[in-house]
Amino acid sequence: MNFITFSLPLPPKLKIINKMRTNIVAGNWKMNTTVKEGVKLVSEIVEKSKKISTVKLIVAPPFTHIFSISEKIKGTEIALSSQNCASEAKGAYTGEVSAEMLADMDVKYAIIGHSERREYYKESSEILLKKVKLALANGISPIFCVGENLNEREENRHFDIVKKQIEEVVFNVDENDFEKIIIAYEPVWAIGTGKTATAEQAQEIHAYIREVLSGEFGKKAEITSILYGGSCKPSNAKEIFSKPDVDGGLIGGASLNADDFIAIAKSF
Ligand code: PEP
Repeated sequence: MNFITFSLPLPPKLKIINKMRTNIVAGNWKMNTTVKEGVKLVSEIVEKSKKISTVKLIVAPPFTHIFSISEKIKGTEIALSSQNCASEAKGAYTGEVSAEMLADMDVKYAIIGHSERREYYKESSEILLKKVKLALANGISPIFCVGENLNEREENRHFDIVKKQIEEVVFNVDENDFEKIIIAYEPVWAIGTGKTATAEQAQEIHAYIREVLSGEFGKKAEITSILYGGSCKPSNAKEIFSKPDVDGGLIGGASLNADDFIAIAKSF
């Protein structure tokens, strides 16, 4: 009998698990740029990203840019995401854009549950679940955002908050759809503030999120990409991305500059 395998150290095993996951850097442009500026930005990203093969690049421009941007990224490895989608499939919902319409425009990902949507547009877990289900039904992978605010962090409630956000939405999707979901952990106190979670804080909560997911979905949680978001920039990306449960970043401000966005992507 050979017991050698039981004495193998942990790091090689972690490395193998890590390789199973896709590293992703996604740029959330929010309500910035005109179409012309957006096309210029994505053209620069296309040009500068040619040698990047270790990370999946995603851009999430405003709805109005989607057609023009999709033309620019055709034939490249860059994928298109929306920043939102409607919670209803179709019909009399003035001003909304459905998941079906987005899929029709080659949109492969949708940011759902961003803290700005939760806070300013009062999007509840009930609404977010409808959006996630509609995205999945139309072949779009949700980039589902979770994260605590400053009070919740200071009161040490961040674990409970993200667990609840995940339970209320992700636990309610079909088990076969779960593997299409990407999680973005974005502490609200770090978004657009210049404050970043430390790499240790990110790792701690990413590992916890994976543990919560594996409680419901078992081994499938090992292949879920969990992105960090919150004032991620070229100067801090390398350290944050070096952590075993951080599989990339959702980038706001720094994604509006092609050099910064590419430098972050090269941090892997
Ligand atoms: C975001 O809004 O998703 C985000 C991470 O923003 P920033 O990088 O600007 O903090």
